[in-house]
Amino acid sequence: MAFENLSERLQKALKNLTGKGKISEADINQASREIRLALLEADVNFKVVKDFIKQIKKEALGKEVQESLNPGQQVIKIVDEQLTKMMGEEAVKLNKAPHIPTIIMMVGLQGTGKTTTVGKLANYLIKNEKARPLLIAGDIYRPAAIDQLRQIGQQLNVPVYSEDNKDVAQIVEHGLNQAKEDKNDYVIIDTAGRLEIDEALMDELKRITEVAHPDNTLLVVDAMTGQAATQVAEGFNKDLDLTGIVLTKLDGDTRGGAALSVRAVTGLPIIFTGQGEKLDALESFHPDRMASRILG
Ligand code: GDP
Repeated sequence: MAFENLSERLQKALKNLTGKGKISEADINQASREIRLALLEADVNFKVVKDFIKQIKKEALGKEVQESLNPGQQVIKIVDEQLTKMMGEEAVKLNKAPHIPTIIMMVGLQGTGKTTTVGKLANYLIKNEKARPLLIAGDIYRPAAIDQLRQIGQQLNVPVYSEDNKDVAQIVEHGLNQAKEDKNDYVIIDTAGRLEIDEALMDELKRITEVAHPDNTLLVVDAMTGQAATQVAEGFNKDLDLTGIVLTKLDGDTRGGAALSVRAVTGLPIIFTGQGEKLDALESFHPDRMASRILG
C-alpha cells in the first residue's frame, strides 16, 4: 500500500493520545515530536514539516474542548485537517478550453511514466466524459516512445498523430490541425524527457507551448523520488507555466514525501495519481481522502 511507513508511524504517534481522558501540553509536545520524525523520514521537505508542526501545536493547544470528541480524537482531527491542507485542500480539475479541443501537454523527465500517463489520461477521459481524444507523439528522440504511444492508441482505439520530422513544434502544429479537422475534443501531447533538466529540453518545450497554447501543462513526476520530485517541479515551473502535477508510481511509494510536499513547496496542485502500470491505474487526487487514508 502507498505510504505504509508513514501511516504506521503517524498512527502510532496518535494512538498514545486516544486512550487519554485529558491531554497535557507535554502529551502534545511528545506527539508532535513523533509526527515530525515520521514526516522527515517520509522525506517531506523540512520547512513544510516545521510549518505543519507549528500549526498542529497551535491548534491542539488553543482548541476549545468539543464535547463530542475525546481529546485524542480532537488531535487526530487537527492532524487530518492539516494534512489535507498541506496537500491542497480541494481537488483540482483539468482546465477546459472554451472551444474544443482542450489541449493537454505532458512534460517530465525520462522514465517517470509520461508516455504511459498520456494513455491513462486518454482512457480516463473516455471513461468519464466519453471523450474523443487525439494523441500527438512529440517524443521523437526515443523511437520506442512513438511505438509505445501507437500501441497504447491501438489498445484504446484512439488516433495517434506522428510524423517523420525533426521539428517537434511543427509536428504538434500539424497534429492540432488534424484534431480540429476531426473535431477531437481533447488533444494530449507527449513530449521528450531527459535524465535531467537541460536547456535544450526546456527550449523545445517552450517552442511547443508557443505553438500549442495548452490549456493544461501537466508535469509527470515519480512519487518514489520523494523530495527530488519537488525540485524537478520547481525547475520545470521556472520555464513553463505548469498547471498541475501527475504523481506516478504511488503504488510503490511507501514514504509519501512527494505527495505531501509538492503542493506546499511549489504551489502546484496534484491533479492525478498513477497507481500501477495498467491503463486504468489513474485516479483523480483528493487531498482529504488521501489524508484519511494516511491516518487509517
Ligand atoms: P516515460 O519515459 O516518462 O515516458 O515513461 P514510461 O511511460 O515509458 O514509463 C516508465 C515505466 O514506468 C514503465 O515501465 C511504466 O509501466 C511504469 N509506470 C508508469 N506509471 C506507473 C505507475 O503509476 N505505477 C507503476 N508501478 N509503474 C508505472
